[in-house]
Amino acid sequence: MENVIPFPYAVAPVQPVGHFIRLGESGYNKLANLHAAGRFPATRVVVDASRLKHQKELVSALRAKGAEVVLDTKVAELSALEKFEGYARHAPWAGLGHGGPLTPAHFDPKRAEDIFGQIARFAIEYKVHAVLAPGHFLADPTFGGWFDIDRASCLALRRALDREGGREIAIDYQLIVPHTALNDDAARSDFLGGLQDLPYDNLWVRASGFGNDAGPLTTKRFITAMAGLHNLGKPIIADYLGGLVGHAALAFGAISGLSHGIGEKERFDAHSWHKPAKKADNSNFGRATRIFMAGLDRSATIPELELMADARGGRRIVTCCDRACCPHGLKDTIADPRQHAAYQSFTMMAELAAVPDLNREQHFLSGRMADVDRQARQAKELKFDVTEAAGRKIDVAQLTKRLVDHSKQVEKMRLSLEDLHESRADGGARVRSLAARATDQRAGKAGLK
Ligand SMILES: [Zn+2]
Repeated sequence: MENVIPFPYAVAPVQPVGHFIRLGESGYNKLANLHAAGRFPATRVVVDASRLKHQKELVSALRAKGAEVVLDTKVAELSALEKFEGYARHAPWAGLGHGGPLTPAHFDPKRAEDIFGQIARFAIEYKVHAVLAPGHFLADPTFGGWFDIDRASCLALRRALDREGGREIAIDYQLIVPHTALNDDAARSDFLGGLQDLPYDNLWVRASGFGNDAGPLTTKRFITAMAGLHNLGKPIIADYLGGLVGHAALAFGAISGLSHGIGEKERFDAHSWHKPAKKADNSNFGRATRIFMAGLDRSATIPELELMADARGGRRIVTCCDRACCPHGLKDTIADPRQHAAYQSFTMMAELAAVPDLNREQHFLSGRMADVDRQARQAKELKFDVTEAAGRKIDVAQLTKRLVDHSKQVEKMRLSLEDLHESRADGGARVRSLAARATDQRAGKAGLK
């Protein structure tokens, strides 16, 4: 019998991991401050067309450091009844809808308003490196033809970029679908067929109903579904995905990268996009600050965090033990939750990225996955001071139930992923890794003025 040599390399290859940060709509001053303090080492960012004008300085500073800038046109939101009057309305082409959402007719390349020309000129003006091709939620119950329109839009955008002088600007394709459609063989082969021969670099998948809170079965299915898209031969970015679930998908070679905000946009849901927007209920104003507990892969409000810290054995579970992140522990975390969330996010990704591709599954399972499982088990045993809880307006029974449920879910996740790992003794199919684009630093050009 021949000897089996598991690693035919002198040194196992380390494939890059794509980490895109969505700058989002709000709080970008905080991100700018973090960047100025050297605490926002983003190498890839997604900027919204609705916000870019106001984020110019931050984007320019990131570009100067060699970061790659990707433009989101916000066309998906602008075409959705529930979303078109939200933040997306500030995108330069929002007005094409004349007070309503964008319709299929707006994406006719022959239309005089030429949305593709507008997007191309905007991308060139702001010197982005890539544009997410205008894409729509494909399960829109009011219109079933978006996929054909989106594919034609991808081609139209390429022509517009070339014509307007943006030949070097790349296009990434954005597939926005219910996560269940990705598990469906027939739907997936439609995607595979439809996405061939289009002029794009990376495939972005925004899976509706999926995210950092996904359960074990859904996560496993997502990993398998992504492997079903590998035949396209394109790197795959999971958009609006973060947390342990995102790291699992990366570690299992299902995706080439993640895209999410700092402590936000880590899950996605478009199921109500076709309905009218709910009347503003000011809930954003009263929304409590949530703090990411890396050890548990969950967030909590400040009163919850403090109550947990005061419980016996609780402090070390909820406290950030990373001196470089929060030198004074909990006090620092509470004082600047975004700084903490950013630091944790970058650190965890860098840690995974440093591991050779073929070792990532095992590394993840025995590392972060096992750590979270252990800490979640400890957290569910915490006994809270009832008087203190009442003072903080916390329902102890409810908090304990959340911790117990979380621990169960994390344990199932670990078992389920260990099972998946063992069932693919060959390591399974690995996604194509992300190629570096020519950014300013690599090309030696000056940034935005
Ligand atoms: Zn911290």
